[in-house]
Amino acid sequence: MTSEEIRRYLEFYQDLGVKNLYRREAARDEAGESSARATGGGEQVISLVPPLSPVHDNLAKISEDIGDCKRCRLHEARNRIVFGSGNPEAKLVFVGEGPGADEDEQGLPFVGRAGQLLTQMIEGTARKEGIPLKREDVYICNVVKCRPPENRTPQPDEMEICGQFLFRQLEVIRPKAICALGSTAAKALLGTKDGVMRLRGKWQQWRDTPLMVTYHPSYLLRPYNQNAKKEAWEDLKIVLHYVYD
Ligand code: URA
Repeated sequence: MTSEEIRRYLEFYQDLGVKNLYRREAARDEAGESSARATGGGEQVISLVPPLSPVHDNLAKISEDIGDCKRCRLHEARNRIVFGSGNPEAKLVFVGEGPGADEDEQGLPFVGRAGQLLTQMIEGTARKEGIPLKREDVYICNVVKCRPPENRTPQPDEMEICGQFLFRQLEVIRPKAICALGSTAAKALLGTKDGVMRLRGKWQQWRDTPLMVTYHPSYLLRPYNQNAKKEAWEDLKIVLHYVYD
């Protein structure tokens, strides 16, 4: 295993919240001694680390692995799994929170009112900045792939279970930048408790990819959040120029 592969393994487990891994002593294992004894006993040893993501991973494989997912309670009320849509080789990926009613019905992300605003934000900002960009040129997906009941915020275990598929999507697409829409996406990708107001407007990082946090379009639809709209446009301008200039 190369050092790059080891680094990715460790990042993967860190993202899942695993803080301690214990190294197996290969020579002793080969000699048939128990891993526990090899580390001096007591410690739990992870003797078989599953692959971070399959070699030659791709979006079709990830979708296939999700399958008719019943890994968490969100499957109970969903109609459709909302995997993601757009250009599989996009230079820019937008990550939202989770499907709403329209998305659950159509199986596509951001197709309701918030989605229309997101389309306007992407295409309107790009046009103003002289960047020829359409919604279908970017990739759009969510932290959780099933609609949370009553559009509630996804719970940590739901985010963790579904997050592995989001991470694989991002690893496969390898965009030049990621835009996290709202605090759930920011939390899932950055592992931070900081809110959007604190994070937005400056580059963060997901693994080695620059990431911009901005307001979720649903938040911007509320009439009393019009100031935030200006800020979201500013955030998007930074992102679009970075990615497409
Ligand atoms: N809100 C989201 O976070 N994602 C969608 O797909 C739609 C609304």
